Order: sequence, then C-alpha cells, then structure tokens
Amino acid sequence: MTTEELVGKVAVVTGGANGIGRATAKWLAHRGAKVYIGDVNLLEENKVPFAELGIEAQQCDVSLEADIQQLIERVIQEQGRLDILVNNAGIGMVKPITEVTEAEWDACLGVNLKGAFLGCKHAIRQMQQNGGGVIVNTASNAGLLPRQHDPVYSISKMALVGLTKSLGLCHAQDNIRINAVCPGPVCETGMMNADLAQSSDPEAMKQGFIKASPLAKALNRMITPEEVAEAIGYLVSDAAQFVTGTMIAIDGGKSLGVSQVGS
Ligand code: NAD
Repeated sequence: MTTEELVGKVAVVTGGANGIGRATAKWLAHRGAKVYIGDVNLLEENKVPFAELGIEAQQCDVSLEADIQQLIERVIQEQGRLDILVNNAGIGMVKPITEVTEAEWDACLGVNLKGAFLGCKHAIRQMQQNGGGVIVNTASNAGLLPRQHDPVYSISKMALVGLTKSLGLCHAQDNIRINAVCPGPVCETGMMNADLAQSSDPEAMKQGFIKASPLAKALNRMITPEEVAEAIGYLVSDAAQFVTGTMIAIDGGKSLGVSQVGS
C-alpha cells in the first residue's frame, strides 16, 4: 500500500486511544485517511500526536447506542461519508464462570459484542448510502480457540467471529466487507499491561505467553500493536477487495493446535 492510498477515506476506530486501536488509528492516518477515534478514556498523552495526524477523538462508550450514534453522526456531519469502521474497543474478563456476576457478563458482552453490533448497525446504514465500505472487528485468539482462564471473554470473541461471518454474508451484496483480526497476546497494550501488573511474577507470565505461541517462541518476543494494525490495514485496503467474513489470526500459530506433547 502506498502512503497516500487512503486519501479521501474516512475512518472510525473504537477503543482508539490505546494499544491496538491507537496503532491502527495512526496507521490509517499516516496513509491519508481522516480518522475519528471513540473511546471511554481519551488519554491526555494522545493530544499532540493525534493533532499532528489530524485524528479527532470523541468520548464514546460503545456499549451505549446513543454514544455510537453520536460518533457516527458527527463523522457524517463533518465529512459526509464513512468508509472504514474498526470495532476494536474491548475489555478482558479473567474468572471462572462460577464467579462471574450477571453485571460482569453484561459488561464484557456489552463492550466486546454489543459494541460491535451497534457500530455495524450505524455504520452499515451510512455505507449502504456510500455504495460500500469496510468493517474490521478486533476479535482474538480466544475467538478461535476458547481458553480455560477466561471463558466469558472467549465467548464474547467467538460470538464476535460469528457476527463477522454473518454480517459479512448479509452485506456483501452492498459492497460492504466485514472481517476480523484474531491476535494472540499483544505487548504494550492497556489490557496486557493490566494483566502483567496483576501478576506476582510479570516476567514469568510474559515468558509463558511467548512459550505458548510457536512463532513468538522462535522470535523470542510478543506481537506488537503495530503488527496487528498492519493486518487491519490490509483488510481495509483495496488489495482485499474480495475478502469478507474471514479471520486473520495474528498469533504466531498459537491457535493451530497443540505444539508440543504435554504443553
Ligand atoms: P487496550 O486496553 O490498550 O485498548 C482497549 C481500548 O478500548 C482502551 O483505549 C479502552 O479505553 C477502550 N475501551 C474499553 N471499553 C470501552 C468502551 N465501553 N467504549 C469505548 N472504548 C472502550 O487493549 P488492546 O489490547 O489494545 O485492546 C484492543 C482490542 O484487542 C480489544 O478488543 C481486545 O479484546 C483485543 N485483543 C487484545 C489482545 C492483547 O493481548 N492485548 C489480544 C487479542 C485481542
């Protein structure tokens, strides 16, 4: 992709103030797109770099329809169109099912699944009027292969994979492509930093993540937010014009199967 390939395109990235969303917002803006991010926590540190790239930031809780609607209405008022939506906002939920409260279930599914539903609902209406568009959902490795330590998070991401395939099918006729990325553990994100901070031995936890992915082990490092942004960038680009309803795993082979006997 050239650095100007997205000139004239308008993009919304939810959860764009930190981690994968921030890297994606910058990736899109660097290639010429006009980018709006929606996030519950906008972060002061973004003010200068976002201003330099013309990235607009709006307070938005994706689990509230009024917030998503306001964000997309603002984009349409100011730019007249919406070409790209990245439903990226997400929260973790590390607990056995027996300890998950109803409120915690609602919060996790509310952000990770309902947030994407609401984003799709309001973006697709606009994209249908534009004659097309592209949506990328940030699912997870856990959306391909459920995990023992975070069943509710896994359920939310598996459902997000289902939403991606279902809406990919429904809206291909509108020239709207809907895909997902499924990253393995990503370093330097709010989510990962919070997990590491809660551990009694963060370094051992990090090494555990690296060991669980064959490529991470070979490279001796975790996946970066920028690497996930590259995959999202491919999915929104014209190079992916025939790609819809698909998942790109960015997990170093972690979801392919058990890599070692006994692991
Ligand atoms: P992050 O915490 O850095 O980013 C998540 C962003 O979402 C934050 O800016 C946060 O403020 C925002 N957010 C949370 N709830 C919100 C809400 N209700 N409305 C709007 N914004 C909200 O973590 P990240 O890893 O960059 O997470 C981005 C996405 O990637 C999430 O969907 C997450 O599930 C997914 N993911 C992360 C990893 C990882 O290892 N970090 C792996 C696979 C998938």
